[in-house]
Amino acid sequence: MNPRVMLDAVAKAGANHLLEGDDFDWLEFWEAANSEPWGRSHVVQSWPAEKRKRAIGIAAHGDEGQGKKDKSVLVLSWSSFGVHKRSTSCKFPFAVMRSTCFAYDGKRNLTLEMLQKHYVRMFNECAHMPDGDQLSLHYCAGKGDWKFKKEWLDEPRSYLRAAKKEGSDGPHMVCRRCLAGSDGSKPWLDVTNMAFHNQADMDAAARNCIGPNVAIRHLSGWHISCEYPDILHSVWLGTARDTIGSLMMDLCEFGPWWQDFSAWDDKLHAMTLDARRFCEDHKIPPVHD
Ligand SMILES: [Zn+2]
Repeated sequence: MNPRVMLDAVAKAGANHLLEGDDFDWLEFWEAANSEPWGRSHVVQSWPAEKRKRAIGIAAHGDEGQGKKDKSVLVLSWSSFGVHKRSTSCKFPFAVMRSTCFAYDGKRNLTLEMLQKHYVRMFNECAHMPDGDQLSLHYCAGKGDWKFKKEWLDEPRSYLRAAKKEGSDGPHMVCRRCLAGSDGSKPWLDVTNMAFHNQADMDAAARNCIGPNVAIRHLSGWHISCEYPDILHSVWLGTARDTIGSLMMDLCEFGPWWQDFSAWDDKLHAMTLDARRFCEDHKIPPVHD
């Protein structure tokens, strides 16, 4: 769905609040963006205040969700930074496609390449300084799961390579943002010495962490830092799950509370019941997704 058409339709329906938010301060947003690498030289910064006020920062999201019968479905969508409501009313679809329909030329995903070309063209049509009280859209962040991002951005380094140990840009480099690898002088698991993730590495990584020909480089206001891994996918869907699992095992093994049980299952079950009781006592509601 063309975002330009969507933008016009939302305005025509008198529903601009779905993009502007109810009391979101866009002048403050762009002011704060000055301290972000992507925001400092953003074209919107040179616009007059009354236009900056209507310049909507958006995040795009890409994912290969599991559809029926285990067929992967690519879902590309976008949403405004100023709106945090139910995703059905504030997430706008760009494309939904079964990944079995993708066309490849060797390892090149021709479908994603073509899709991205039109994505860039259409979003660029939303990023001009608009007339009157119309809104404009500005891409500020690209989120998504690692598998999608690897193909979408033609990444030579990827966390998916940590296990496979393959790739053209150094055989074991895994990070989109720095030069961390699965072995060598900057192992990504060495959180004590942290030889990775310093500014010099990040500057070097920024030069070639995505493919040289990806169309997104021509998206208005785009900067490599828009593509840095996001907290949701890196922490909450990635390392945090493993960390929490490891901590639970440690608690079961060494904590005094569940030593009456010998089997792991019984210890973990008792721990879960305790955690539930704690949440009830402290009125912490269960999480539904
Ligand atoms: Zn890194």
